[in-house]
Amino acid sequence: MLEGKVALVTGAGRGIGRAISLKLAEMGAKIIVNYCGSEEKAKETVKLIENAGGEAWAVRCDVSDFASCGEMAKTVTEKYGRVDILVNNAGVTRDGLIMRMSEDDYDKVLDINLKGAFNTIRHFSSVFLKQRSGKIINISSVSGVLGNAGQANYSASKAGLIGLTKSVARELASRGICVNAVAPGFIETDMTEAMSDKAKETVLAAIPMKRTGKTEDIAKAVAFLADDASDYITGQVLCVDGGMAI
Ligand code: NAP
Repeated sequence: MLEGKVALVTGAGRGIGRAISLKLAEMGAKIIVNYCGSEEKAKETVKLIENAGGEAWAVRCDVSDFASCGEMAKTVTEKYGRVDILVNNAGVTRDGLIMRMSEDDYDKVLDINLKGAFNTIRHFSSVFLKQRSGKIINISSVSGVLGNAGQANYSASKAGLIGLTKSVARELASRGICVNAVAPGFIETDMTEAMSDKAKETVLAAIPMKRTGKTEDIAKAVAFLADDASDYITGQVLCVDGGMAI
């Protein structure tokens, strides 16, 4: 259980980030609901948590902006005095074949998905180090584990997140800080809704469990990695994908 703990979830207004926020709140954590463009959705996430008897606070920050992440870390630590759980969930896709991928689409995806996680970890790690405890959970993807045609930028960002996870896990392990990654497969959210029916069929055929995942499937895995049940686990990648990466 997470009573008395403070958790920051990036991209928590909708999709997987919202489900993670609701789950961690249900376990007793106070939630900082980070968002970038979806202010109304973020307010909805806060309301859902409050209606269930929890505590939450929405904070706008573009995670790809290093200085803004510094401001967010300052604001959050001033308000709560501590941060126990950091979930780097914010992510975007700009799919396309490598021959046609624009430099902008490559940079955008890397800036948000990979540098965004660096930015938050860089600014929050001093808080964790002072506390001598903490859980950092990075949301990677099965695309980062296996690669995926049409997603060179996204796969690179998600594979990069795995490298970041393992390196930071080694750096912070002796201070009682655990750093792990969750690699979702195909989860029903706005991100996958945007795919063509044909692409969805192809992905479904590659899932041994023959069903797509729900945002709650990811939230449950994150809950385990945020809880003291996983205190001796660090530097790992937990695939939550119905068997896609077997
Ligand atoms: P989604 O529904 O498209 O939501 C994306 C989230 O990222 C939104 O909350 C968005 O916030 C946030 N975000 C985007 N740019 C941001 C920025 N610059 N700063 C802060 N937040 C930003 O996607 P999802 O499916 O829930 O995905 C969540 C995570 O899981 C992503 O990292 C994604 O790569 C990963 N994932 C998803 C799947 C899947 O099948 N859905 C599979 C593998 C991995 P705003 O709306 O406020 O901008």
